[in-house]
Amino acid sequence: MSLAHGRHYLAIPGPSVIPDRVLAAMHRPAPNIYTGEIVEIVASLIGDLRALARTSHNAAIYIANGHGAWEAALANPLARGDRVLVLASGLFGHGWAEIGRRLGLAVEVIDSGKRAPIDPARLAAALEDDKAHEIRAVLAVHVDTATGVRNDIPALRRVLDEAGHPALLMVDCIASLGCERFEMDRWGVDVMVAASQKGMMCPPGLGFVFFNEKAAGAREARGDPSAYWDWTPRSAPQDFYQHFAGTAPTHHLYALREALTMLLHEEGLENAWARHEKLARAIWAACEAWGAGGPLEINIPDPAHRSHAVTTLRLTAPDGTALRDWLTERAGVTLGIGLGMAPPGDPAWHGFFRIGHMGHVNAHMVMGVLGTIDAGLKALSIPHGPGALEAAACEIARA
Ligand SMILES: *Cc1c(COP(=O)(O)O)cnc(C)c1O
Repeated sequence: MSLAHGRHYLAIPGPSVIPDRVLAAMHRPAPNIYTGEIVEIVASLIGDLRALARTSHNAAIYIANGHGAWEAALANPLARGDRVLVLASGLFGHGWAEIGRRLGLAVEVIDSGKRAPIDPARLAAALEDDKAHEIRAVLAVHVDTATGVRNDIPALRRVLDEAGHPALLMVDCIASLGCERFEMDRWGVDVMVAASQKGMMCPPGLGFVFFNEKAAGAREARGDPSAYWDWTPRSAPQDFYQHFAGTAPTHHLYALREALTMLLHEEGLENAWARHEKLARAIWAACEAWGAGGPLEINIPDPAHRSHAVTTLRLTAPDGTALRDWLTERAGVTLGIGLGMAPPGDPAWHGFFRIGHMGHVNAHMVMGVLGTIDAGLKALSIPHGPGALEAAACEIARA
C-alpha cells in the first residue's frame, strides 16, 4: 500500500509546477509563424517581460534553458580574454563562472561559501585593487538555488558606484524572477538572465536576457557573439521570426503569454512577491520547530538572507535522501536534491534536501509538503521537534 496515488506534487526548485491554464494554452495546432496571432503575442510578451524585470530596456528571448541565457549574457558584451569577477554563493555562481571560462574569459571567483550571501566588502576590496578598470563585468546570482541564499543586489551596485568602477553588473535571476522583489532599472543592473521553468511557471525551454543601453554599447564596442546568440535581433519584436534565428518556439510562447497574464495582469507582481514571502515564512516556521528537537537545520541561518523561492535544508546523512525517497514513494511529493552541498559520491551528500516553493504554489500546497515531511520524519524515526504544522498554520493565518 502507498499513499502516493493521486496528483503528484513536484516540489523541486525547477522545473516548477505548471498551471493547468498554461498547459491548456499549449494544447492547440501549430500556428502560422509569419503573420497573425503569434506575431502579436511576441510584441505583447516583450512589454510584459520588461514589466516583470522592472526595466524599460531590452528583453531578448532565446530558445534555450538557463545555461543558454548565461552564455548569451556573457557572449554579447564581453570579448575573449576580458576579466570578469564572479561573486559565488553556491553552485550556480560557480556554474556561470565555468561558462565564462569556456568562452575564453579571464574569470576570477570570490566565493562566499555555502551558507552566506556575498559580502559587498569583498567586492569593494577587489575593485580597489583594480585601479586600471580591467574588470569588465561583475556577475552575481540573485537567489542561488543550491544554497537557498538571496544576495543583496542594490548593495553590489552601491559598491560599484562608490568605487566609480565602470564594470557591467550582471545578475542571474533564474530562480527569483516573479518570486522575489527585483527591480532591474532602479537597482542599476546592466544585464539580467532568466529562464521559463521556475517563477515563470512555464516548461523549460525559453531563456531570457535583459540588457540596458550600457550593455548594448559594450556589445557594439567589444562583443562578438555568434549569429545565433546575438541579442540585437532577438530583442527587436519587429524582426519577429528572424529574431528566433529560425522557427519561433510557438507553443512555449503561448504558455508564456498565459503565465504572464496570470502573474502580471491577474495576481499582480507585488502580490506574487508577497505570496512567496508569506509561504516561505510558513516553511521556515515549520523547519525551525523541527530543528528545535533534532538535527534539521535551514542552510541559511539568517532569515534576512534566505530566498523566498527555495529552501535548502540540512539533516544527518543519509537521512536527507531517505526522507526524499519516502516522500516520493509514500506520499506523492518529490523534494529537491542537495545540489552542490557536498561532492557527488561523498556520503555527506545524502544529508541535504531542498523544498522548491517558486511559481504556482499556494498555502494548501505548502501545508501539504510540510505535512508529508512531518509524516516522513516520524516514519523514519528522524529526531525532530513538535509543533511544526501548528507553527506554519499560525504563519499562514497571520497573512
Ligand atoms: C536553474 C538555475 C540555473 C540553470 O538553469 P537551467 O535552465 O537548468 O540551465 C541557473 N541559475 C539559477 C539561479 C538557477 O536556479
